[in-house]
Amino acid sequence: MMSLRLPSIDGLLRHPACLPLLERHGRESLLASLRQLLDELRSSVLTGQLSAVEISPEVLAGRVGERLAQQQRSQVRRVFNLTGTVLHTNLGRALLPDEAIEAVQMAARYPLNLEFDLASGKRGDRDDLIEGLIRELTGAEAVTVVNNNAAAVLLTLNSLGARKEGIISRGELIEIGGAFRIPDIMARAGVRLHEVGTTNRTHARDYEAAISPRSGLIMRVHASNYSIEGFTARVPTAELAELAHRHGLPLLEDLGSGSLLDLTRWGLPAEPTVRQALLDGADIVTFSGDKLLGGPQAGLIVGRKELIAKIKKNPLKRALRVDKLTLAALEAVLGLYRDPDRLAERLPSLRLLTRPQADILAQAQRLQPLLVQTLGEPWSVSAIPALGMIGSGSQPVARLPSAALCLRPQVSKRLRGRYLLSLEAALRTLPIPVLGRIDDDALWLDLRQLDDEPAWQAQLAQLQVDP
Ligand SMILES: *Cc1c(COP(=O)(O)O)cnc(C)c1O
Repeated sequence: MMSLRLPSIDGLLRHPACLPLLERHGRESLLASLRQLLDELRSSVLTGQLSAVEISPEVLAGRVGERLAQQQRSQVRRVFNLTGTVLHTNLGRALLPDEAIEAVQMAARYPLNLEFDLASGKRGDRDDLIEGLIRELTGAEAVTVVNNNAAAVLLTLNSLGARKEGIISRGELIEIGGAFRIPDIMARAGVRLHEVGTTNRTHARDYEAAISPRSGLIMRVHASNYSIEGFTARVPTAELAELAHRHGLPLLEDLGSGSLLDLTRWGLPAEPTVRQALLDGADIVTFSGDKLLGGPQAGLIVGRKELIAKIKKNPLKRALRVDKLTLAALEAVLGLYRDPDRLAERLPSLRLLTRPQADILAQAQRLQPLLVQTLGEPWSVSAIPALGMIGSGSQPVARLPSAALCLRPQVSKRLRGRYLLSLEAALRTLPIPVLGRIDDDALWLDLRQLDDEPAWQAQLAQLQVDP
């Protein structure tokens, strides 16, 4: 038997079938992919497992073309977040408003006055670009911005409490998303943890008894992702601030989400505002830019001028500072807060959080027949009310009344799990992956965040579920 021979690399590179690939991907990439494919096929050719067609230049070019296209596809992918959690940390939290996107484009494309004072022509400070807005919106005397709120807490603790004791209630020694734990951050900041009170109850006298010449600060942390209910006691911020100041200590409050406005005006659960924490006497307040604020990832440190000045002098500030794109986006988002009446239309996270349930339910009912048709047997599809979450540690127990497409496999209990997992996986392989959540033997697609319905519908025809 005459054994087949693979085409030569040179021959392939010159072959018309490869020319479009050469054009699109360049010679280096094409050459590397061709070499790799031929290496993989060599032994199969020798043992006669491949036909002449399978090693024709046209077929090989097709295979290499697929590989190159795959490699070229971005790893950073857009998804549909139908999990029901609006500010989903794993899915990028807040979506930026158009104003911020335009500001980011400007900052990306052109030189800008990042650290240059246009009035004096001298060197400037990047924090100054948003200081005016922050003062107006929160009543703070000064601000400094870092990469995220974890960095804000680390920097503040290290600047104000290194080699001293930080007094904190046991009930506030929280862990957020695995890697952020208050005791660990304190230790890394060089602050010695002095826990007071108990998990459920801490009184003013507990704090008072802990104060000594070794004390450097009192810290309060918003419980964020858990809630303590029942027999509890917590010292109000105003009282704690009074106590701290009587002993010459600063009070830090890590608010986490840090909303700038009272959310109850939009029917959302109450969340402490930055302005209120400062009014109550907190000397420094830290919060995230991409949680309830609805902006880019950032950590804002606001409060008393002389403390902010001390924080800004810490060499760690240089390591944790924000970049120009973030700052541009942040300024644009903060600007929207000057017109609270239109905020819910203009700020995507607030618009999504305040979408009425009836609206979402109507959308689910409209899309239900399409899903019935797409999935077929053995799936039952219903459009029903569901409960979502704000996410990112805001109001862990509060639920957002929402609506979902509830997809239930009508198969024996034993098989249900497998059906659900394969549907979930199939949805993830769509061009724009669709992410829902499995609960109570069903896959739920919460439609609160489905605003690009045409793109979502268009790709459904490609859904292939193999149980
Ligand atoms: C979310 C949160 C943090 C961490 O903020 P990041 O912006 O994710 O770094 C810190 N403290 C509290 C109370 C939080 O809720």
